[in-house]
Amino acid sequence: MSLDQVLAPNVYDAEPIPEAARAEIDRLLMSGDLFRYTAPENAPVALLEREFADLLGTTYALAVSSCSAALFLSLEALGLPKGARVMIPAFTFAAVPSSIVHAGMQPVLCEVGENYRIDTDDFRAKLPGVDAVIISHMRGHTSDMDVIMELCDAAGVPVIEDAAHSLGTTWNGRNIGTIGRVGCFSFQSYKLVNAGEGGILVTDDADLVARAIIMSGAYEHTWKKHSDDGDLHAAVARWQNKLPLYNLRMQNLSAAVIRPQLPEVARRVRDGRANHDYVAAALNGSAWLNVPDPLGPEDRAPDSIQFNLEGFESDAEARAFADAAAARGVKVQVFGLSTDNARAFWNWQFIPGDLPDLPRTRAMLMRACDVRLPARLTQPDLDYIIDALLAAAEDVKGGTLAA
Ligand SMILES: *Cc1c(COP(=O)(O)O)cnc(C)c1O
Repeated sequence: MSLDQVLAPNVYDAEPIPEAARAEIDRLLMSGDLFRYTAPENAPVALLEREFADLLGTTYALAVSSCSAALFLSLEALGLPKGARVMIPAFTFAAVPSSIVHAGMQPVLCEVGENYRIDTDDFRAKLPGVDAVIISHMRGHTSDMDVIMELCDAAGVPVIEDAAHSLGTTWNGRNIGTIGRVGCFSFQSYKLVNAGEGGILVTDDADLVARAIIMSGAYEHTWKKHSDDGDLHAAVARWQNKLPLYNLRMQNLSAAVIRPQLPEVARRVRDGRANHDYVAAALNGSAWLNVPDPLGPEDRAPDSIQFNLEGFESDAEARAFADAAAARGVKVQVFGLSTDNARAFWNWQFIPGDLPDLPRTRAMLMRACDVRLPARLTQPDLDYIIDALLAAAEDVKGGTLAA
């Protein structure tokens, strides 16, 4: 099939929500039972929490209004003081430093290498004096969790995993989001499970989840509807009336949209990984494009692909590549070159104090490209994207062939 016979694939539309959601949504609309704490038991949000914890293999899960809310509550639930220093990778989404600022704490940015993962030397150097870390698995790329956990455990620094975009990724066979003290996931529409908005945190720590449950908005004794786990009840009883209620709850309609998608996760992960690896192999055949290798223990669940422009000497050349791809129907975002990009750390001017210079992360962002690659794409869609990207590189750099 030639390029002109296939329309450029739409990479923004979501998959339809499974049919099974409809009956439950109808039931909720008929009864008006939308608040998670109205029903005496088994509200859709509570059932989602049980199912999600089982899927991940954790003891507890707490569903909330967004992953940002889950990150904020995690920081608050750790009981850190105002002004606490929280380290994050300098390559992440603006919502992550924002959750730290929201909690009255200070983000500390760590360098990220050309492979989009935390620079463990810079991490080691900056860890002294840090009170907590949020490891943001940006676009599902997993930093070296063995090194990070060893350093943080030795220093007594708690680890929050921002697994917003990492559902289904494993590290040494272990689910991402279950390695640190607490893991946070997103159900925003661009993530693997789509409820428009929503988030969830998972942990094995009864005290931490008890605090988070109360602060998420479990007033009076509504927390009894979460679970009949004895450790949880004992922990919540300790914190009753001692914590503010931020009201970041999830409502039942969201849970009704999410629950029938959980059995789809394995398929989406499998298809997304196959799509990614097929496109990555083709792009790596070009002398001008490079998809960095994952770290050995990582099995990613990608719904997008990131690659670096190699031998593009100027920003103008990198822009010309993005323009040439756009002209062929494929939108490429070079993280550092699109105006006001929320993933470029120099745009996080809301962070108190002077923004640090992070030359490695900056250099990566100026040549790193982002293309969406949802799991539902077909072989002709993938071939279209590959052809457009390879041709765009040759438009700018000439016809030099494979490395
Ligand atoms: C989407 C995303 C978030 C924010 O999730 P929300 O549910 O929209 O708050 C945070 N971190 C990463 C890495 C993300 O991809």
